[in-house]
Amino acid sequence: MTKNDSNIAQLKQHLHRKSNDLDLYLKALNSAYSGIIITDNTQYDNPIIYCNKAFETISGYSHNEIIGHNCRFLQGQDRSQPERQLLKDSIARGEECKIEIRNYRKDGSFFWNELFISPVKNDEGYVTHFIGVQNDISARKKSEHELREEKNSVELKIQQRTKELKDKEVFLSSIIETVRESLVVLDANYIVLSANKHFLNSFKVSSEETVGTPLFELGNHQWDIATLRELLTDILPTNNPVVDYEVDHVFPHIGRKVMLLNAYRIEFEGHYKDRILIAIEDITEKKELDRRKDDFLSIASHELKTPLTTIKGLVQILQRIGTDNDNTKFVSTLDKMSSYIDRLNLLITRLLDTSKIQSGNIELHMEPIDIDRVVREAIESINYATPGHNITLVGSSEAIVEGDEAQIIQVVNNLLSNAIKYSPDHNQVEVSISKVASFVKVSIRDYGMGISYHDKQKIFERFYRASHIQKKFPGLGIGLYVSHEIISNHQGTLWVESEVGEGATFNFTLPIKQKKEIHGD
Ligand code: ADP
Repeated sequence: MTKNDSNIAQLKQHLHRKSNDLDLYLKALNSAYSGIIITDNTQYDNPIIYCNKAFETISGYSHNEIIGHNCRFLQGQDRSQPERQLLKDSIARGEECKIEIRNYRKDGSFFWNELFISPVKNDEGYVTHFIGVQNDISARKKSEHELREEKNSVELKIQQRTKELKDKEVFLSSIIETVRESLVVLDANYIVLSANKHFLNSFKVSSEETVGTPLFELGNHQWDIATLRELLTDILPTNNPVVDYEVDHVFPHIGRKVMLLNAYRIEFEGHYKDRILIAIEDITEKKELDRRKDDFLSIASHELKTPLTTIKGLVQILQRIGTDNDNTKFVSTLDKMSSYIDRLNLLITRLLDTSKIQSGNIELHMEPIDIDRVVREAIESINYATPGHNITLVGSSEAIVEGDEAQIIQVVNNLLSNAIKYSPDHNQVEVSISKVASFVKVSIRDYGMGISYHDKQKIFERFYRASHIQKKFPGLGIGLYVSHEIISNHQGTLWVESEVGEGATFNFTLPIKQKKEIHGD
């Protein structure tokens, strides 16, 4: 073999190897996931001279439909994208670039193309080819888009919610600032977190010196009230609210104040927070008014009683004269006068009682009472005085209670006369006495008009009368108040059970002192 032959053989071998390599590269390109094209920049309009299989898949066009065309066919009619200009400029400058551009497949369907183009230069630096690599990123774009949408909608919702919360806050704080009650919020160490205007104005303090200061140190320790301290230290551990607790305190700058205090440990979504809300109602003026009213009542009833006693005496003298003269008309008129004087006297006594109770001046003359006898006698005398009604008694307690007999009689009489007064269309009243544990229980049931839920909350208050009965039935609205106070003073309770139109049952209990001794004789 000549040298020439051997060179040719070597060359053939070399070419064979090259062609094998080329095959391998082409196979590699065809198995790539990304679409790859090569364009010839030396030819007119930079046509595609190569595309791999993936490019055919991505674009939907076949190899033959692609080769010879400029890449722009992928853009369909969507030619106003700014990325297009970017691409054009990079090609003109012979630079690489990466863009994301909207492209269209052969069937017209849209896809997002992540396109990377890179120039190939010859030895002189002239760009002969461009290599384009493309990926269909529609799925990624879609989820990016959805994510953006989601984010936008969440942001919108947050904005709306924040606005709602702000509106609510403004609404609530305007209520808090307008109420005529002082409101203070404390943390677990009794440091004031906030105080409303009414508090600041009432106690003549500024927000600066109040917020951030422990309540007990406020305004030269003017709030360091022993009972308040005790109450508040009880709330946090037990969650027990303080309801309508009366505090009477002399403040150094503003003088004496009587306040109704309500304090709660703040609860949020079922959990107790270490925050206490205190609502303070200033009842100084109301108390003063009540005191004046009581003074007036007590003076007026005293003043009325004196001439009435004299009139009663004079009437008694006239009654005697009348009997001596045997003048029946005269005597019966005087008897009527006498009974009206007695009624007037009773009313005035009741008024006097209320003012005594209110000022705590009522005296109890405690003695052992046979309660069964007291109730029985009260029934007998009322049955005698009001023959139109029939009061019956069932049961007995066989017990002795310790109490002021005159006052217990007054309670039974009040309840019985109410039972009769408020049941004009039913003549039956039932009284029962029983022994319940260490108490005597007396119940007085009528079948009259009954009491509404609203009235039930109020009838034991002074001067309260159900509005619909005011004109129909005479009364001062003090009988139940006095009765309630008397029973409370005897360590018992008085309460009512009733429905409108179904009558009412007034019950009271009194603690038993000892069992009644049954005497043999
Ligand atoms: P008064 O009878 O003078 O109005 P009370 O204090 O005895 O005052 O009673 C207060 C109110 O309670 C009455 O005005 C009436 O509305 C209601 N009340 C009391 N007892 C009864 C009853 N047995 N049935 C229905 N209402 C009653």
